[in-house]
Amino acid sequence: MGTPSRQASTGAGGGEGGGPRACSRCGCALRGGVSYIVGGERRRLGCAVRYRPLLGRSALTALVVGTILVAINQGNLLLAGDVPTTLPWKIPLTYAVPFCVATWGALGNSRRRGDAGSRGDVGRAEDDR
Ligand SMILES: [Zn+2]
Repeated sequence: MGTPSRQASTGAGGGEGGGPRACSRCGCALRGGVSYIVGGERRRLGCAVRYRPLLGRSALTALVVGTILVAINQGNLLLAGDVPTTLPWKIPLTYAVPFCVATWGALGNSRRRGDAGSRGDVGRAEDDR
């Protein structure tokens, strides 16, 4: 009796136990010590990619940049009403590229290697909105 072990692996802010070496979302081990700091939490890549605010910002970037690129590249065809058969796959790709670039950049900025992740203040301040 009297086991004061209330320090379950919450992981989010803990520096002991399995905290720094495990994803704070799913609890899985971090491969190669690589983690991603999103929303002030340390996550593995698969869980960092599913972070909704990150996806929302990437989608907004894709919407703005993709629309500009479609206007530049296909605007003349769309205005003329002359829609070639390649357009249905070119337009989604035009939106997908800035989405991937924005997501890649955000993940690259939040990437941490090893236990020196206490510097993970890049994603924290901006993700609390
Ligand atoms: Zn996870």
